[in-house]
Amino acid sequence: MGFFIPDKRFRRITEIDCEYLRQKDIKGLILDVDNTLSTHHSQTPLEGLDEWLDEMKKNGIKLIILSNSKKERVTPFANKLGLDFISLGLKPLPFGLIRAKRRLGLKAKNTAMVGDQIFTDIIGANSCGLNTILLEPIKFEDGKSFKIRRRLEKRFIAKYERKAANER
Ligand SMILES: [Mg+2]
Repeated sequence: MGFFIPDKRFRRITEIDCEYLRQKDIKGLILDVDNTLSTHHSQTPLEGLDEWLDEMKKNGIKLIILSNSKKERVTPFANKLGLDFISLGLKPLPFGLIRAKRRLGLKAKNTAMVGDQIFTDIIGANSCGLNTILLEPIKFEDGKSFKIRRRLEKRFIAKYERKAANER
């Protein structure tokens, strides 16, 4: 059950602040793409993303993209943002996550996975001992399989919210 619950939840990636990262001793972030940095399959970055990336870099936070999407989708997007990347990441399997962490040169406890999906981003990263930050999808996807996944996520998000409320 614990594997399904993120350590922290923000609405948008641009709301993740350096103060939070400092508190948790997080020195690097592994970033999902679809519905985290842009809407699904879009090459247009989320509003305010450039400024947020600058802020992270200025504070010495290391960044890498890890997407399950194909190279053709991820390469131009990562290049536009000037970020290192791994495509076909196979989340929630550990291989891509471990590779990304290794490229950052950080320990698991100093690294966080940032993504919008519990069944890929959060489960995978929790099982690798990484910190986990769940975002709200920028825009809800069409399609039956996504709708089912989003519905299944709700109970885990509710559980996270109860836990977070108790810690306040
Ligand atoms: Mg995503």
